[in-house]
Amino acid sequence: MSIIKLHDKYFKTYLSEAKIATAIKSLAKQIESDCKNEIPLFIGILNGSFMFAADFIRQYKSDCEISFVKLASYQGTSSTGEIKQLVGINENLEGRTVVILEDIIDTGNTLQEIYAIFKDKKVKQLKIATLFFKPDVFKKELPIDYVGISIPDKFIVGYGLDYNGLGRNYKSIYQLTTQPKMKNIVLFGPPGAGKGTQAELLKNKYNLIHISTGDVFRYNIKNKTKLGMLAKSYMDKGDLVPDEVTIDMLKTEVEKNKDAKGFIFDGFPRTQSQAIALDKFLEEKGETISGMVALEVPENLLVERLLERGKTSGRPDDQDENKIRNRFNEYNTKTAVLKEFYQNQNKYFGVNGVGSIEEITQRLSEVIDTF
Ligand code: AMP
Repeated sequence: MSIIKLHDKYFKTYLSEAKIATAIKSLAKQIESDCKNEIPLFIGILNGSFMFAADFIRQYKSDCEISFVKLASYQGTSSTGEIKQLVGINENLEGRTVVILEDIIDTGNTLQEIYAIFKDKKVKQLKIATLFFKPDVFKKELPIDYVGISIPDKFIVGYGLDYNGLGRNYKSIYQLTTQPKMKNIVLFGPPGAGKGTQAELLKNKYNLIHISTGDVFRYNIKNKTKLGMLAKSYMDKGDLVPDEVTIDMLKTEVEKNKDAKGFIFDGFPRTQSQAIALDKFLEEKGETISGMVALEVPENLLVERLLERGKTSGRPDDQDENKIRNRFNEYNTKTAVLKEFYQNQNKYFGVNGVGSIEEITQRLSEVIDTF
């Protein structure tokens, strides 16, 4: 549901955990029914297949064995160049039913090496099971007995597969995509952290559109629109406005600025479902959140700041300590989880929010410059 960056490349969500799990279940079932009365030896080809192999054998309900090998290449002394060797086979394979577990088969070069290596091991039968298969690029005349999911010839990462070492730890599969053009920043922090002040400065510095959902709501309340009337009762108490209302409003604001170089989202997302909706919405445009930049300020300092602001801001939710406490409660119970949400995508950047306005802009800029 989002775009990730690994080294210099961008990848978008392609296959969900659920789709992968269904494919693995079905592979396990097929192999189990073909291996009745046998104890197959599964051999996972490292590194990519470790996750597939682990999930696969948990779905395989009859007796079986598993082992792992690595196909290592070393420079041969002969003119033929690279020679491949399997590292890690200790079992006696004679007379066994061996099922190779591959994460992905594309050209079939690795598969060919495997066939060549197993040729003289006197196995009873050698079968190949691959989680992913690229039929468009497969060039060999070799049998592949079991295929989980056939995919087009696009580079994928995640679920054990890597791009130059990175990406193996993602639970779903991501596909190579073009670089997003926008800088989209979620400016995060509890009420009173200084998001509004900083957003004003940053939008000029980076030529971005600043969307403050709180400001949009207040504008609508002032102009007595339908949206304003709806939001007012929640806002006055310091409660969050319902997600559907807020998400629709946010989308409308983004659509108003089609040529923007990017957005600073201030006060949005504030719940997990808003964050999910935002990811999905941006992904449909080939865009993504570049990062969440969070102003970290201790709560006691914030209450003081808000009461002080309430003297001049005219905001009813700034003037009463109970309402302020309720806003913190909303923040801690519904919004603070977003830190983890973005951390899981490697997109969380905490910034010390105590200091002068200029100092804090400088700290934020150091992070934003890396996006
Ligand atoms: P703010 O100006 O960001 O402090 O927001 C003021 C109030 O507007 C909040 O206490 C909520 O009642 C409402 N609000 C602003 N943004 C959102 C949001 N993303 N989701 C739900 N309610 C929001």
